[in-house]
Amino acid sequence: MEPALHNFYDLTRDELLALASRWGFPPVHAARLWSYVYLAGVEDWAAMDELPARYRAKAEGELQFRRLGTAHETHSSDGFTRKYLLALPDAARIETVLMRYTGRVTACISSQVGCAMGCVFCATGQMGFMRHLTAGEIVAQAMHVDAVLRGTQHTAALAQAAAASPHARHERLRNLVLMGMGEPLHNYDAVMRAIDILRDPNGLALAAKRITLSTVGVVPGIMRLADEARPFHLAVSLHGATQAERATLVPVAKKWPLDELMDACRYYIGKQQRRIFYEWTLIEGKNDTVETAHAVGQLLRGQLAQVNLIPLNPTPGYAGEPTGREAAKQFQAVLADYGLPSTVRQRRGIDIAAGCGQLAVARR
Ligand code: SF4
Repeated sequence: MEPALHNFYDLTRDELLALASRWGFPPVHAARLWSYVYLAGVEDWAAMDELPARYRAKAEGELQFRRLGTAHETHSSDGFTRKYLLALPDAARIETVLMRYTGRVTACISSQVGCAMGCVFCATGQMGFMRHLTAGEIVAQAMHVDAVLRGTQHTAALAQAAAASPHARHERLRNLVLMGMGEPLHNYDAVMRAIDILRDPNGLALAAKRITLSTVGVVPGIMRLADEARPFHLAVSLHGATQAERATLVPVAKKWPLDELMDACRYYIGKQQRRIFYEWTLIEGKNDTVETAHAVGQLLRGQLAQVNLIPLNPTPGYAGEPTGREAAKQFQAVLADYGLPSTVRQRRGIDIAAGCGQLAVARR
């Protein structure tokens, strides 16, 4: 049987260089290949004319660029958000979102097909878990968004926002959030490998301070992040300030209860000397009262923390309503009394089901 081809996007730069040596070529050719792909966005072997023909032929026989095909693409009515339904080689599908804010573009990428965590208000959780993504499939999503940006196929609104950016003419992907489909810390090794590839200084060179990983509270993963001193931002989805309230929204709280989660978060903050962003989905009448805000304040008081409030986005499987603007402001005011900074997340892409908790591989 023929040996399987390597997916180029699964490889770190060091591994690509080591492969070249194993094939009997100097690593400099592999370094050039890496630059073609990650700096110039070239994946056409014929266009890589600075590579020696023998190395190129060998690499072409051993490596494959497993890009993800676009099965469907949707643009929000305000032009700031694009959602891509991407096809994986086994016919599974995932969603990746490009979000534009003034002067910056962020890719929201997925780490799994579906999700095992089952958060009740989340469309991905409502799908159940199908499989983990490989590192290459995670990297390919970022490369997909980068290619879109380099193609600069702007709508009028996108062009206007891009003009506000000093980098508008040479737009590249610079901000990444792992908040798409799946729980990143449930697929720890593949996610960390992908981030290492995307951070490689000779390639896409994403800065750690522009990468945010979101978890629903996978305690062993948080401890491991702390021990490995991973330098990017961590967002922890809280949603409830007591064990009982949290467990009604986030079933995985039964496995990793709130007190264990708080211990892990304090451990992370202590080791990393880095703040945690706590995500709080605001659901009208459920977890948005002033009393609840006090409970959050008491829970997080004294921590190096920020709270991101996200008014609930609609999904077919959950009947709750988002908290209104005034109630969100009151919630923020209470948090401020406890010395906790907070933001209310800008709602983007809701009309195309590209907001937080809405990704579900449906053609919407
Ligand atoms: S919110 Fe995140 S962790 Fe929870 S079910 Fe959805 S994708 Fe999974």
